[in-house]
Amino acid sequence: MMTETAKLNSIEFGWTNCLIGGGRTLPRGFEHYPSETQVKVARETFKNFYKSAHAPYIASLTVSEEKKMRTTKAHFTKMFKLGVVLNLRHITFHCGSFTEKKSLSSVQIIQRVISRVKELLKRKEELSASEIELAPEVGGKINSFADFDTLIHVASETGTLLTWDFAHDFARGGTVITYDQIKNRLIKIEDNLDVSNHRPLPIHLSGIIVGKHGEQEHTLLDKGAKLPWKLFLSVLKNENFIHKTVIICESKAKAAWPGEDSLTDSQKIFDFLFSDELITKWDAPATSLSKFIFK
Ligand SMILES: [Zn+2]
Repeated sequence: MMTETAKLNSIEFGWTNCLIGGGRTLPRGFEHYPSETQVKVARETFKNFYKSAHAPYIASLTVSEEKKMRTTKAHFTKMFKLGVVLNLRHITFHCGSFTEKKSLSSVQIIQRVISRVKELLKRKEELSASEIELAPEVGGKINSFADFDTLIHVASETGTLLTWDFAHDFARGGTVITYDQIKNRLIKIEDNLDVSNHRPLPIHLSGIIVGKHGEQEHTLLDKGAKLPWKLFLSVLKNENFIHKTVIICESKAKAAWPGEDSLTDSQKIFDFLFSDELITKWDAPATSLSKFIFK
């Protein structure tokens, strides 16, 4: 039974390939950030929407090189300034990878990320962007920073949110395939983060193709790995958690207009949330894919 209300009213601006500077011509595949004028138009167009942005992939908090860290900070400064104009509620970002492991231990990398998140929070306050939450994202690749539990730790140490990309969590072998496992995640969130109707937890939900290193790419919900997305939504419904979340659908498929697929899947998610359907068990795939998921 549907006991909560859901609305189709959130949007994520993908600034994933944005570069700072670079003059008029940018390298292939990159683009400029929107101008302040464009951002004002977007703010009016999506007036009553919950608005978020996805940071550029180039930004990283695990890097050792000073120069790369300066670039990361410049991106956040840019996003905070645009975000104030746009009325952004949160910024999702990837923290980086564990490839620095050659010179640092995992614990040292986690400490590094925590202190850099604190620096970003300070910068955010300096720019009067206190309304914008930081939401580091659960990475999809096995060596990416970081898994769900590590990000819970980072978020509770710094007071940020996190972006729970359910497909990433699943792809890197996270324990999210039974009702109780998913429910345990919700308990951890409740215990460590201050989430509510007014400060919802960002969730990413999309289909995913999985390989031996974890995520390969996003696809449609019912393609690729057999993601237990209906079980996931059932737990959110049944545990009365939906009002504490904002769900962004990042589904995409090749050779199609990108927006069409994420919108189709958004509607699927929405319809399921409004249906009476409740799934309590995941119908695990019998294919060889399972060997990557069950380690
Ligand atoms: Zn992401």
